[in-house]
This record gives sequence, C-alpha cells and structure tokens, in this order.
Amino acid sequence: MAKQNKESRCSFCGSGKQDTLMLIEGLDAFICDKCVAQANQLLVQELGSKKGKALDPSITLLKPQEIKAHIDQYVIGQDDAKKVLSVAVYNHYKRLSQKVDKADEIEIEKSNIMLVGETGTGKTLLAKTIAKILHVPFCICDATVLTEAGYVGEDVESILTRLLQAADYDVASAERGIVYIDEVDKVARKSDNPSITRDVSGEGVQQALLKILEGTVVNVPPQGGRKHPDQKMIPVNTNNILFICGGAFDGIERKIANRLRTQAVGYKVKKDDDELDLKNLYKYITPQDLKSFGLIPELIGRVPVLTHLNPLDKAALRNILTEPKNSLLRQYVKLFEYENVKLVFEDEVLDFIVDKAMEYKLGARGLRSICEAIMLDAMFDVPSDDSVQELSITLDYAVEKFEKADFKKLKAA
Ligand code: ADP
Repeated sequence: MAKQNKESRCSFCGSGKQDTLMLIEGLDAFICDKCVAQANQLLVQELGSKKGKALDPSITLLKPQEIKAHIDQYVIGQDDAKKVLSVAVYNHYKRLSQKVDKADEIEIEKSNIMLVGETGTGKTLLAKTIAKILHVPFCICDATVLTEAGYVGEDVESILTRLLQAADYDVASAERGIVYIDEVDKVARKSDNPSITRDVSGEGVQQALLKILEGTVVNVPPQGGRKHPDQKMIPVNTNNILFICGGAFDGIERKIANRLRTQAVGYKVKKDDDELDLKNLYKYITPQDLKSFGLIPELIGRVPVLTHLNPLDKAALRNILTEPKNSLLRQYVKLFEYENVKLVFEDEVLDFIVDKAMEYKLGARGLRSICEAIMLDAMFDVPSDDSVQELSITLDYAVEKFEKADFKKLKAA
C-alpha cells in the first residue's frame, strides 16, 4: 500500500493526485486528466491533418448519372433540379481534381448553385443528400440571421464556423465542403433599385456574402459569434467550398409572368403561349427575375447555376410517403419492428394523409405532423402491450386519431 501511495503521480507530467481532477491507473503507470486532454488534442491535430491530405476528390468522383441515381433514392421528382445539381456538383469536384494535377491551363470556374422553389419541396433535402453521397462536410445556414458586420446578428463568417464544426475543425476537409444557405430570398433588397439609405437586412448582407461565395481566405472565429481582437482566427479558403443557395422567392412568379408577357409583345400570334405551364412558372426562371426580385447582380453572378423545384402534387406527396429509402412510413414500420410488431398501413390511409396535407397547404413538411397525429396513441400504448403482434392502420382509425388531435389547433400552434 505504501508503494502505491508513493507512485500515485502522473507518469507524464509528474502531478500528484491532489493536483489533478482524475488520475487514471494503467498497468505500471498513471496518467492525469490534463495529459489525457493534451494527448487527445495532439491526436486530433495529427490524424485530422492526415485525413485532410488523404481526401482525394477523385475517389468520390461519381459521374452525374450516378449522382442522380443516388439522389433518386431519397428525393422524389424534381428531375430538372437533380440533373442540374448532379452536373454542377460533378464539375465542381472535377475542378478540384484538376487543381491537384495542375494539368490544364483552362481554369474551370466555380459553380455555386441557386435552388428556387416553394417551401417544403425538397431544396434542403437535395443539398443534404448530395453532401451525404460525396462524404464531405455539410452545413445548413439561414440567411435571415445574418447581418452586415457591425449590426446585431451574425456575421457571414459564422457560416464558415458551422462548416468547420461539421468538419470537426479539420480545415482541409472543410475547404472542400458544401454549405446550404437557406432563405436567400429574405435578404433581397426591397426594390430593384439600389438604395440610397443603408439597408441592414438586405443589400448589406448580400455584399458581405459576395466575399465568401467567391474564393478568398476568410478569417473565421472558431466558436462563432462576434469577432473580437483576442480571439484566435482560423483562416479558411473558400475557393473550393460549394455554396448552394435556396429560397422560395415568394411572388417571383409575378415577375416571371410579367417578363414573359413583355416578351410576348410583338409576337401577337405567339404559338408557344398556350404551352406555358401557368401552374408552375418557376420553371421559366432566369437570372433576370432574381434581379427584379432584389438580388444584386454581383451575387447572381457568383451563383451561376440556377434551377427550380416543382410544386409537389398529390402523386408526388404520396410517393414521398412510401418511396424514399428512409420514407416516413418505412420509419414507422421500423419503429414498430423494434417492438416486434408488424405495422401495415391501408392504402386509403395514404390517400387520407395526402389529402389532409393538400387541404392544409402544408406540402411535404406537413406529412410528418399528420402521421404523428395518427400514430401517437399507438406509439404510446403498443410498447406496454405484449399481446399486440400486428397493427393495421385502417382509414377509420386514422380519421378518428386525426380528428382527436384537433389538427387545426396544432397547425395554428
Ligand atoms: P425546403 O428546403 O424546400 O423548404 P425541405 O427539403 O426541408 O424543403 O423539405 C421538408 C421535408 O419534406 C423533407 O425533410 C422531406 O421529408 C420532405 N420532402 C420535401 N420534398 C421532398 C421530395 N421531393 N422528396 C422526398 N421528400 C421530400
């Protein structure tokens, strides 16, 4: 015993037991909490940088058709957007591998992407799915919380803080990541004309975004928040970061319609006119419409790939319930499988869920809350009831539970 007391010191730094929070005993040695933390830091630095170097973009370089086939497993419909995204992402990563061999003098420009489509049509899901396929760090940011430097809100650099966090502070890996900036439409200036007064929420943020969307080295505060002089910054080169911007651009249909109408002047017998899909004007979107909406031309120029998402119709919503690899219904079936209960949904229930989502104008986002309202009681009771081995959700059951949940009130909340 006397021997153990004498040796109860950290074998690395020599601290005695009383100087440490914890002393861990090994076979023939001790290590204190501080040395464990230090060793861990060393490991992260060493292995992290090796991981970054080993990340050869050509390894994950899937062909556009392969990228789309992967996305198809998770995202329903939206073929135009999927195609455009697959090509843009492929070219982007090709551009990265080109940098590696320096084979060519023709420099391929960065292809940041703009996704325009109603809320809940799959913009975020598309961006997320792509990042998953490519195994690169990915983060989602909301443009509405950003403000011009010096105002209350987050600096645009905070976007890169998130990416760094997603990459476990592995800078090399973050520098090849994907950032999804949601709700860019909310930083549009109020009119097409440049403002004389300062526009805190709109134009200023767009100006600030320009800097990171292009390719520069940005000093990023590692913990986010405001920059202050004592904080150690991490330089991040945004040259190879792919930015995907998304927004619903409410009301842009009117601008598109106006443009199409103006173009039609002079072509009285415009043959194509009746071929215009008036229910989905998004598909005719051009950079000019983004400008009329209030994005500054410099920003539009830095997000050169523009594509749209279609509104989801009944058939699409029904597919979303069942088709994707991790569709909502599959998730419920899995949850009940854990209780050894076989869960089945009758076909009419699916139609009911879709009808309600359409009725309340909730789109795909609403499917989940409707399903939850229907399934809550079963998820509450079944785990405590060993006699249930199979559960069939019938239309009557679904209607009863849905009405009981008083969905109107839930929605208002
Ligand atoms: P957005 O970013 O366009 O507002 P999201 O991508 O966040 O919409 O979609 C919300 C949810 O709706 C997703 O998590 C997904 O479950 C579902 N969803 C939306 N569109 C689709 C789609 N096309 N295919 C599959 N699921 C979808």
